[in-house]
Amino acid sequence: MSNIIYPTTNFTATEQLTIDRGEGVYVYDSNGKQYLEGLAGLWCTSLGYGNRELIDTASEQMGKLAYSHMFGGKTHRVGQELAERLREMVPVENAKVFFGNSGSDANDTHIKLLHYYFAAIGKPQKRKIIARERSYHGVTVAAASLTGLPVNQTNFDLPVEALGILRTDAPHYYRGALPGESEAQFVERITNNLEQLILREAPETIAAFIAEPITGASGVIVPPAGYYEKVQAILNKYDILFWADEVITGFGRTGHDFGSTTVGIESPALMTLAKQLSSAYMPISASVIRGDLYEAMIEPSNKLGVFGHGYTYSGHPVACAVALKVMEIYQRDNIFERAAKMGDYLQRRLAEFRDHPLVGEVRGRGLIGAVELVADKATGKAFVDGSVGAFAQRACERHGLILRAVAGSSLAFCPPLIITEAQIDEMIEKFGKALADTQDFVSREKRV
Ligand code: PMP
Repeated sequence: MSNIIYPTTNFTATEQLTIDRGEGVYVYDSNGKQYLEGLAGLWCTSLGYGNRELIDTASEQMGKLAYSHMFGGKTHRVGQELAERLREMVPVENAKVFFGNSGSDANDTHIKLLHYYFAAIGKPQKRKIIARERSYHGVTVAAASLTGLPVNQTNFDLPVEALGILRTDAPHYYRGALPGESEAQFVERITNNLEQLILREAPETIAAFIAEPITGASGVIVPPAGYYEKVQAILNKYDILFWADEVITGFGRTGHDFGSTTVGIESPALMTLAKQLSSAYMPISASVIRGDLYEAMIEPSNKLGVFGHGYTYSGHPVACAVALKVMEIYQRDNIFERAAKMGDYLQRRLAEFRDHPLVGEVRGRGLIGAVELVADKATGKAFVDGSVGAFAQRACERHGLILRAVAGSSLAFCPPLIITEAQIDEMIEKFGKALADTQDFVSREKRV
C-alpha cells in the first residue's frame, strides 16, 4: 500500500492496478500487460494516449509561458483563442467562457454565475436549482449537492441546504417506469412531476434546471423520445434556464458535436465542459454561458462589484494551448464524424448481448454505452449489491479490457473517439469472455 488516499475508493479494499504507460487506445500495467482502455480513462482521453502533437504543444507552451493568471483582466493569446474557438463550436448563443480545472469546479462556477446574474438583474431570490435523481455533476461541496447519488452525499451532510437544490425524476425508463407504463406515459408522468415541483416551489425562486443530456457516470441513461422537448417547454413557460452538463457528452461522444444536439436540447443557457476539452492531456474545464447573461452582469448599473470567484489555474496557458490543439485535431481529422460511425458500430455490437441471460438492458448512443447485469432477466430485478458488477469489471481486466461498473451492476463503455472497428471487435470479444466468467461466478456463488 502507498501513502495515497484514493479518490472514490472503498478504503477497506486492497486491490490495485498500477498503470504505467499508454499508446493509442491501449494502456499497460507495471508488468507490461496490455489493456484496451474501454472507458477512455474516466470518459476523457478522446484522442487516446501518446499523441505526439499534444505532447509537443504542451512542451512548446511550457517553454514560452508556463503560467499566467487571468485575475483582474490579465489575459493571454491561447486563452483568448480557445474561448473564441469554443464560441464558434458550442450551441450556446454568443457564448462567453470561464475557465476552470475540472467538471466539478466548473459547475460550482455556474452556481455563482447564476447567483451573480440574477442579483444583477434585480431578481436575487431566483436561485434554486433543479437537479435530477441519478445524476452526476461532480464532488466539490456545491457540485456534490447537485449530484443525485447517495454515495456522494451520505457521510458529508449534503446537499448544502442554502443552495436550494430541488430534486426531480431521472429519465430512466428501465429503472423508473411503473408496471405496464409505456415510454410516452413515463415521459408524461415525470415531466408532469417536474411542472408540479416548479409550481410548488414558485417559479420566480428557481434559476435553472441542470441535466446531463445523456447521463454517464451514474449508469448511462438515454432519455426516451420526447422527454427533452417536454422539459424545455416547461422551463420556457416558467422562465427557468436550461443548464447542460456536457462534461462527458461534449465533443463528439454521442454521435454529434454535443450531447445537446444529439437529444434535441435547443441552445442551452449554460453549458459545462471538461474532460474531452483537452482529451485529458491537461486538466481544464469551461463554464459557458449565453452572451445576454454576461451582458447583464457587466452592466455598470448593477453595482455588484467584483465577481469574487476565480482559480489560480483559471485559463492555465498550457491547458489552453493543449485544448486549442485538441479542437484543431477534432476538426482537421473529422474526429466527430468518425466517432459517429464507430458509435453506430459499437451500438450494433453491444446489442448482441441483449439476449444474454445475465443482461437486463443494453443502452447507449454513439460511443457511450452500458450493459446492465441483473439478477432476474424476466423481471429486471437488480442484484442486491455491487459485487457482481465489481466481479465483471475485474473479469474484464483479466481479459485485458478496462471498463467501469457504474450504478451497481452496469458495465459502462466509453472508449477513445479514435477507436477503430477492429478494436471495437476486440473489446466486444473480451467483454464476452468476461461476461461468461461472471455468469459462472453468479451460478457458483448463487448471487442474487
Ligand atoms: N459533470 C459530469 C456530467 C461528469 O460526468 C463529471 C465527472 N465524471 C463531472 C461533472 C465532474 O467532473 P470532474 O471529475 O472533472 O470534477
